[in-house]
Amino acid sequence: MNNTGQIHHQTDYDIVIVGGGMVGISLALLLARQNHAWRVLLLEAKDFGNSQQPDFSPSFDARSTALSWSSRTIFHAADLWSELQPHSSDIKNIHVSDRGRVGLTRINAEEVGVEALGYVLENRWLGSVLVKKLAETSVEVRAPERVAKAEVVQSGVRISLENSADIINASLLVIADGANSKTAQKLGVHSNHQPYGQQGIIANIGIESPHNGVAYERFTEQGPMAMLPLPDCDGGARCALVWTQPPERAEQLMAASDSVFLQALQNSFGYRLGKLGKVGERTVYPLALTTASEQVRRSIVVLGNAAHSLHPVAGQGFNLSLRDVATLAEVLGSARSECESVPESFASLETLERYQQQQLRDQQRTLLFSDNLPKLFSQSASAVALGRNIGLLLMDLAPGLRSSFALFGMGMINREARYD
Ligand SMILES: Cc1cc2nc3c(=O)[nH]c(=O)nc-3n(C[C@H](O)[C@H](O)[C@H](O)COP(=O)(O)OP(=O)(O)OC[C@H]3O[C@@H](n4cnc5c(N)ncnc54)[C@H](O)[C@@H]3O)c2cc1C
Repeated sequence: MNNTGQIHHQTDYDIVIVGGGMVGISLALLLARQNHAWRVLLLEAKDFGNSQQPDFSPSFDARSTALSWSSRTIFHAADLWSELQPHSSDIKNIHVSDRGRVGLTRINAEEVGVEALGYVLENRWLGSVLVKKLAETSVEVRAPERVAKAEVVQSGVRISLENSADIINASLLVIADGANSKTAQKLGVHSNHQPYGQQGIIANIGIESPHNGVAYERFTEQGPMAMLPLPDCDGGARCALVWTQPPERAEQLMAASDSVFLQALQNSFGYRLGKLGKVGERTVYPLALTTASEQVRRSIVVLGNAAHSLHPVAGQGFNLSLRDVATLAEVLGSARSECESVPESFASLETLERYQQQQLRDQQRTLLFSDNLPKLFSQSASAVALGRNIGLLLMDLAPGLRSSFALFGMGMINREARYD
């Protein structure tokens, strides 16, 4: 507070992060662990929750996230995994099938030589741990707050805010405010939005038989579905459902009673997990591939869903973004160490392009995989159907190929096992 009794806010930062979802907070936490005494400000549009109620952000809603091996490794290095693991369920096997056809493949953790192929975690738990850990750092948070205007100036970025008269100066602005980012648009960075013409229904499902760590990916005429293993709740076994449907059918299923919904799901999924007994809160998401026209400029980085928002069926969106986050933090840290005499040079275009270059291949391959998988499996033409069944059968016969698929999903192929 100054001598006029007004609260004095700091206005100069090294890095301002816009968006306190899972990507923005993850970056803040990784930076806070470095020995660079970064001055970081995080701006979040919603009233920032406390760690008991982190559902202020769309990141931390009723969804669950399948974390890959690379994400586990990054969270482990950031000292977060010990708090996340008790709330997660290991994926020991992935079971891929095609409704009404013989094709089927199983991918096994033991065969790939890892303890698990992935880990499923409810987003609320992820949010609760991230928010709690953030409160233990020196990262400053302003919420609810949004950027009113941002302009690149000689010294970095000058930002005015919607709810404060303060003018913020920062060397680097990281835009992580989700798909179709409003902040990126203010800087002339546009989003390329390609709808899939499908919607994703998510819900937790109570199951009769234990899931034994099996994640089911099932391709149907209407679209793909995933049933992911969750930790038991009140002694009952559960799975997290992601069910892709055409918009009209999704609307009907959202409006249906629990019993009608469960019967439709049972018909589509079958009895691999016994009788489906309960359905939790249902939420529906329009599905689209959204990519930003640019990811880096001098003093600007676009990250997370603001940079690339993917079809959820392959469970790659956050995992890719977390690899982006880890690489960005690493590149910024190295640049800071290399040039201590000009501290703000870490936000130079050259440094930020180095980050983009390092992630380019990973992003391209993951985007292609996530985009092609649902398209391939949603075509009903018999030649494609036959082809994909042969593909699935071949995958079941060829352990090498199967391992490659699994390693890709685990985020290890793209990184040349960098996050082993
Ligand atoms: C159904 C479904 C299932 C999925 N499953 C998986 C999975 O299994 N594995 C996986 O890896 N990925 C999965 N994903 C993808 C994953 O959810 C996203 O990658 C992730 O949410 C991206 O996080 P984010 O922080 O970039 O964006 P968001 O989650 O959208 O968060 C953005 C944040 O910015 C804030 N904000 C918005 N506008 C502003 C503004 N103007 N100023 C300040 N703050 C702002 C918002 O309030 C929010 O807190 C799934 C997605 C869906 C839809």
